[in-house]
Amino acid sequence: MDADLADLLAFDRDHVWHPYSSALSPHAPYLVESAEGVRLHVRDRDGTRREVIDAMSSWWCAIHGYRVPELNAAARGQLDRMAHVMFGGLTHEPAVGLARRLRDLAPDGLEHVFLADSGSVSVEVAMKAALQYHLAAGRPRTRFFTVRGGYHGDTFSPMSVTDPVGGMHSLFRGVLPEHVFAPRPPGGVDRAADDPDLLAWERATTDLFSAHADDIAAVVLEPVLQGAGGMHAYSPHVLGVLHRLARAHGALVVHDEIATGLHRTGPRWAGDRVVSTPDILCVGKALTGGYVSLAAMLCTREVAEGVSRGEAGGLMHGPTFMGNPLACAVAAASLDLVTARDTEAEVARVGRGLAEGLAPARALTSVADVRTLGAVGVVQLREPVRVAEVTAAALARGVWVRPFRDLVYTMPPYVTSGDDLALLTAGLVGAVADVHG
Ligand SMILES: *Cc1c(COP(=O)(O)O)cnc(C)c1O
Repeated sequence: MDADLADLLAFDRDHVWHPYSSALSPHAPYLVESAEGVRLHVRDRDGTRREVIDAMSSWWCAIHGYRVPELNAAARGQLDRMAHVMFGGLTHEPAVGLARRLRDLAPDGLEHVFLADSGSVSVEVAMKAALQYHLAAGRPRTRFFTVRGGYHGDTFSPMSVTDPVGGMHSLFRGVLPEHVFAPRPPGGVDRAADDPDLLAWERATTDLFSAHADDIAAVVLEPVLQGAGGMHAYSPHVLGVLHRLARAHGALVVHDEIATGLHRTGPRWAGDRVVSTPDILCVGKALTGGYVSLAAMLCTREVAEGVSRGEAGGLMHGPTFMGNPLACAVAAASLDLVTARDTEAEVARVGRGLAEGLAPARALTSVADVRTLGAVGVVQLREPVRVAEVTAAALARGVWVRPFRDLVYTMPPYVTSGDDLALLTAGLVGAVADVHG
């Protein structure tokens, strides 16, 4: 390993926080020097340069891969006009252009767009809008209803509706507001509405909702696929039940599509599998094609006007970098790519490649389940993944993967070719076999 690389990694270890990292026993990260197409150019432990397929799309964002000519051009063009300008009292074409595209792409009725700087912030804003909506109508409500096993972000309000165990609610007891958690919906997208497990879930959820109905401001959930909470897919019938309960009791419905939006599960929005549209929708992650942080909260005219009738006189949020022109310009270009291509067909193709390539993992003794949905492939082990070992084994096989809990999963860029999908899936199955048997 050369001296510069060693020095950089040493400073990183001693001074730089990584996600969920410890200053006492830091995990050694790999250095990425550049990226192109679906590959990261990384340095291995001994300094060797490797070009590896990114099975993670950089935490599900880089749907078009890296160094995308259209996105680079949008960013460069915008840099030459202005990188940023405040959004209070000013507006600009990139923000308006993005909002127009989002309104066109969103389920009908979502008319008002709030541009937020990250997914967590968009969920904060969604929850705040729901509270302000009820407050303005003169019937304040203070709690949110969700299901166990979800993930909505790491800031406090999103954390409060994230799974109590996965979100470590015990760590923040007394600080986190306590919301209402229905049981996790039984797994499986194709369960019939009269499936006994689904009926039992529906009964328990209906009883719980009824017990708190007058105080529920909104139902918050990830439609059809719980992502960071465990790659758990459930029947759209569950959404139908929660929509009905919310409507019957005057609560709003918030779809957190930060992970699932823009075709990750197949349809443009995972919630498109139900007829009724949410009152509020959050989109993030893939919004800028993985270039810069940006998210959006969209809501109906009814919610927007309701919020605005309140004493506060508006939606009480306004981040410094709201509507950042650079982010908006890249997001608009990314959405243009999504619509110009037959993205739904592309995702279906990726899904078939994942299903075929991951199937051999079923024969491994360490594997409990293999499942796919849209461009998501999951290998679930019978034990917690030995993350560092599996990551290293996959890297040696030409694939970047970041497993968690008992899950080795992939959400590759939509543009991953058939040959690369074969390499990717073989790398994952091989790495699991190498480490766990
Ligand atoms: C990643 C994620 C978030 C949080 O987004 P950040 O940009 O990391 O703040 C919220 N909800 C869901 C469903 C997510 O997957």
